Amino acid sequence: MKAVTPMMRQYQEIKNRQPDAILFFRLGDFYEMFGPDALLASRELEITLTGRDAGLKERIPMCGVPYHSAQGYISRLVEKGYKVAICEQVEDPAAAKGIVRREIVRVVTPGTLMDTNVLEEKSNNYLVAVAHLSDEWGLAALDVFTGDFLTARWHDRDMAAFQAEILRLSPKELLVHPVVAANFADLAEGWRKQGILVSPFPAEGLTLEQATTVLKRQFQLSSLEAFGCAHWPAAIVAAAINLRYVQETQRANLPHITRLRSYTTERFMRLDPATRRNLELTQTMREGSRKGALLGVIDKTITAMGGRLIKRWLEQPLTDAEAICQRQAVVSALVDDGLMRQDIRAGLRTVYDLERLAGKVAYGSANGRDLIALASSLEALPPLLDKLRQGPPVLDRLARQIDPLTPVAQCIVETLVDEPPVSVRDGGLIRSGFHPEVDELRDSAGSGKEWLARIEQRERERTGIRSLKVGFNKVFGYYIEVSKANMASVPADYIRKQTLTNGERYITPELKTYEEKILGAEEKLTQLEYGLFTELRDAVEAVLPQLQKTAEQVAHLDVFASLAQVAVEQGYVCPAIHDGMEIQIQGGRHPVVEAHLGPGVFVPNDTRFDDGEALLLITGPNMAGKSTYMRQVALIVLLAQVGSFVPATSASVGVVDRIFTRVGASDDLATGQSTFMVEMTEVAHILHHATPRSLVILDEVGRGTSTFDGMAIAWAVAEAIQRLGAKSLFATHYHELVRLEERLPSVRCYTIAVRESGDDIVFLHQIRPGGVNKSYGIQVARLAGLPSSVILRAREILAGLESNQDKRPAPGVNPSTAWMPLECTVHTHIEGGEATFCHPSTEKDITDASDVLVADGG
Ligand code: ADP
Repeated sequence: MKAVTPMMRQYQEIKNRQPDAILFFRLGDFYEMFGPDALLASRELEITLTGRDAGLKERIPMCGVPYHSAQGYISRLVEKGYKVAICEQVEDPAAAKGIVRREIVRVVTPGTLMDTNVLEEKSNNYLVAVAHLSDEWGLAALDVFTGDFLTARWHDRDMAAFQAEILRLSPKELLVHPVVAANFADLAEGWRKQGILVSPFPAEGLTLEQATTVLKRQFQLSSLEAFGCAHWPAAIVAAAINLRYVQETQRANLPHITRLRSYTTERFMRLDPATRRNLELTQTMREGSRKGALLGVIDKTITAMGGRLIKRWLEQPLTDAEAICQRQAVVSALVDDGLMRQDIRAGLRTVYDLERLAGKVAYGSANGRDLIALASSLEALPPLLDKLRQGPPVLDRLARQIDPLTPVAQCIVETLVDEPPVSVRDGGLIRSGFHPEVDELRDSAGSGKEWLARIEQRERERTGIRSLKVGFNKVFGYYIEVSKANMASVPADYIRKQTLTNGERYITPELKTYEEKILGAEEKLTQLEYGLFTELRDAVEAVLPQLQKTAEQVAHLDVFASLAQVAVEQGYVCPAIHDGMEIQIQGGRHPVVEAHLGPGVFVPNDTRFDDGEALLLITGPNMAGKSTYMRQVALIVLLAQVGSFVPATSASVGVVDRIFTRVGASDDLATGQSTFMVEMTEVAHILHHATPRSLVILDEVGRGTSTFDGMAIAWAVAEAIQRLGAKSLFATHYHELVRLEERLPSVRCYTIAVRESGDDIVFLHQIRPGGVNKSYGIQVARLAGLPSSVILRAREILAGLESNQDKRPAPGVNPSTAWMPLECTVHTHIEGGEATFCHPSTEKDITDASDVLVADGG
């Protein structure tokens, strides 16, 4: 076997240091990948796989991408959940003795990606770290780009809340302390199943003491008291894991991570993952799109920062009435003053993503254009602030929170040209008049160029060669080019340098003198400009904390204006918020369905939970609007607690601690749970966790099993829910449950009205007190286009059932099931290759069920 080439040895050494990442190995103008990395990358990126002689018997697989277009490839791999290590040449190849030194300069991972082309603008990309110490869970979430850094902790018994919070943050990458990885393997596996890249980190563990030091050093503090997490050991460790990881992967100081915010989820309305999904807060269930979700209707923010903030607000409604009212006050002020609102929104249109611009400054990746964008954003603020100061005190207060950092903006504008180039190393950045030496060098470079033009003109005249031209290349510098045809007229003082196919290139001593002047000046100029630019960038870096605060407050302003805009456009009202137990909504509408149907189509409905009323039982045929109605109540309460106005003519909301939903049916195929099993698990969860302050939405509980089972379960669940005292909306098509109203004082029955017109029904979508005794299933089936032969047969069977009902009155039993045509008394169904027999409805069954219902109900 031959010896491995020195370069491949270097490659292998570097690769060994980062075995979990695809290594992008810089070779000249390309990043090359070798071996298994090459096989993987060529498949994932669909690029050609070649081979390279590495000194071994067989060629080693290789593929590569040009360095100038590498970012797109890197992002694609990272989006697919891989890590990419960027290995650069860290010395000048010309000056290198032997092989050029190379080092990994950065590792890009799903949680640390900073490519604005692929990152969603209006979402935070959080890198989340978790730790477990004694009996506590700690979590830290860091948006590496914006520097937003949060931490929280939970007691072991609140594990569900901790889990829900992780899913809310929806990280692409999760760092787990090695102890967690070892002791809670199931948990880590669960996260992986959610599509999260889970990495145990750091390899050698991190004690509380070490973690505290990491944080103190980052924030240059002697204690963590100021952040409110000094006594949260697990949270401290999680935060330190996060910082360490980012320092290691980015190989950078992180000056924009200036603070750590500790929070507790008790401040927020609790929403478990199923409820978030069911209520379609930020994305729809089917397509996962923002459009069609509540956020799609509510988000009229103009800036990216505002977009990220409104999403966070929607996902975390408040539970403190006073805090909610404070938000409302600002929204109200902006609703009342339409002109002010318009001006603010117009002004925000010229504000770029200050948070991410600050991030770029911190990583030293901001170029001239970024700084100009920063300056023009800051310059847009003073006129906005003037407007706000003319408004009521709440707006004036907001204005005082926003520092437009005018000196910084001025400094940028004075230093840089209006439209700087993308590169910061090739000059052309600094405004003329800013620095005398820049001007001088520019002059000499410029006058040199003028001289060259004059030389060209003069030499053409002297030699009579009209096509003679002065050109430049990197090897010979400036030269005079003459075509073959004119060679005879070349004067004796030209020195030949290069022969081309159809001409010759010459130099003259005079040309060289100017060349030195020009090149010398240009080189000095680009260096000087780069130096001045980095000075400017450092000056901006020095005010990062202020800049971040400004960005945050501008985001708030944007969100307030957006909520006000929606309120006006959609005709929302300001709900009264209080600590009592009642909820009253007049003329409530479903914000998303209403927006979808267009103006004037949606039928508004009232909702009333007086003190002591717990359960609203809603009956009505399919398609009547039961689900819409129940979700509308949940969304109105949720919006109210966000601080938003709500779609109603008036509303008064006693603060709710949690919203639970049990709606729709979906098989959880991944875990092998049937629809019914999922449903029952969710109901069990609700019964164990709902409090009198909770709002519970239950849609068609018991639908997934046989009629009697289902009804019995629905009945018993309804009773249990009303005992808990949680405000609940319970939709069912078991009309028998209507009797609960007579037996239990806190139950009220409602139905959604339909009008019969001949054989058809018309949906009125109006909620009315009382119940129904008809399902209209056949009418709805007909509307859905079931063949008329099937409809006719169904009518026939129904008639049989109804006539039988008169013969067999069974109190508390769904009469429609007491009679079955002979041919459908026994069903066999096959599930997973095994046949299961459902028993026929016998008289015994009926009596049993009625016993249960009547006895339990009384
Ligand atoms: P159910 O749960 O009773 O089967 P849905 O709530 O799914 O009914 O409503 C069925 C359809 O009726 C919805 O898609 C919606 O378009 C329409 N709808 C529901 N409520 C209203 C309303 N209040 N005003 C107008 N249309 C409504």
